[in-house]
Parts: sequence; C-alpha cells; structure tokens
Amino acid sequence: MNDYDTLEFLCLNEECQNAIPFSVLMIEKGHTIICSRCGKQYIFDKTLIEKIKKFEKLVMTVREVQDILGDTYVGINIEGHEVKLPYRLLLTRMNTLLTLNVGEHKFAFKFRVEPLNT
Ligand SMILES: [Zn+2]
Repeated sequence: MNDYDTLEFLCLNEECQNAIPFSVLMIEKGHTIICSRCGKQYIFDKTLIEKIKKFEKLVMTVREVQDILGDTYVGINIEGHEVKLPYRLLLTRMNTLLTLNVGEHKFAFKFRVEPLNT
C-alpha cells in the first residue's frame, strides 16, 4: 500500500470546499484528516475505511494489469448489434470517483492518479 496521498475529497464546509488529499495508510492509522484551509477535522470509521481501501485496490489492480489487456475486447449488445470494445478503452474511461453517503453527507472521493495513461 502506498504512503502518499492518492485520494482526495472536497471539504464539507460549504464556504471552503478545499480539495483535501489523504492516503489510505493515514486513515487506517486512525489519523484525523484536517482541512488545510478551514481547519475542519475528519475522522473515518472502519466501514468507510474498508470501502475506500477496496476502491484504491480496484484502481491499483487496473493499473497493474493494463499491459495484458492490450488486445482484449469485450462484446456488448446494443439493440441487437454486437459492438466490440477494447478493454483498454473501457478502462481509460473508468470512473475514478467514489461517492459514499456518510451520515447525511455525500462524500465524493477522487483518485488523484488516472487509472491508465494513453
Ligand atoms: Zn475546509
């Protein structure tokens, strides 16, 4: 697991909305994430940490396997016609946003690294 800030979310303070970078390792250790602009503090609970870990793992796995996906296609049926899409194209379009409901707030976590470079 990486010890650099691979993820970020926007501060929930409506007048702030600063992008707050953080790493999975940081929240796993139980560190409080503090907004550098307004000082609002965030503590992540176990359930949330698990979800964020899975999200990071997914994005990392996609990065790891990209070289073996070069010539792989996936067939999709659209109105009776089969369209072949390269996996590579699908993955480059993969959403790197994870939206979670925490209490009454909606958190959008963003992966700071694009899953594939093309
Ligand atoms: Zn803030």
